[in-house]
Amino acid sequence: MSDSNKTKPTGQLRDVLLTMLDVACPCRFPRFVYLVGFNFQDYKTGPVCCGDTEELVHGSYYGPTAFLDKISQRRVSDSTHSDYKCKICGTAWEFVFTDYSISMYRTYLRLHSQALSNIGADVVLPFPVAAGFMGFKQNDIETCAKNFKQSSVDECIAYLTQKK
Ligand SMILES: [Zn+2]
Repeated sequence: MSDSNKTKPTGQLRDVLLTMLDVACPCRFPRFVYLVGFNFQDYKTGPVCCGDTEELVHGSYYGPTAFLDKISQRRVSDSTHSDYKCKICGTAWEFVFTDYSISMYRTYLRLHSQALSNIGADVVLPFPVAAGFMGFKQNDIETCAKNFKQSSVDECIAYLTQKK
């Protein structure tokens, strides 16, 4: 691929995928794994979604930044669970999609088994997010947001792509 055919940065959060894919695969960046894995159920609240998580999950399997291939899909109660596999390192991921209303859904990606060692830096809290959180109840949003801080897209990109 010549330079002119390369996917150009867009100034959006999903550019982190381009930066990571230049070096290795996103599976090897713990901060990325943490953010795409955000699940309000871990915080024992009602439905809350993180806009940053949604953008990066979407870019992981769709469009020019996609690095995951779908292997299978099934329904589990109200959610759709899909098995994905990294095209680069072969790591297995689980994708979960749940719809709560016309305007509210959430997705997350959970890393099952890691094939290669980390090259990204470890998670340091509070974790920067640009789009932030939405949900039905303010209390739930505040509970989920406690490990996170509002930041610019540039700060989020720098944090997510930092190496060890
Ligand atoms: Zn991988």
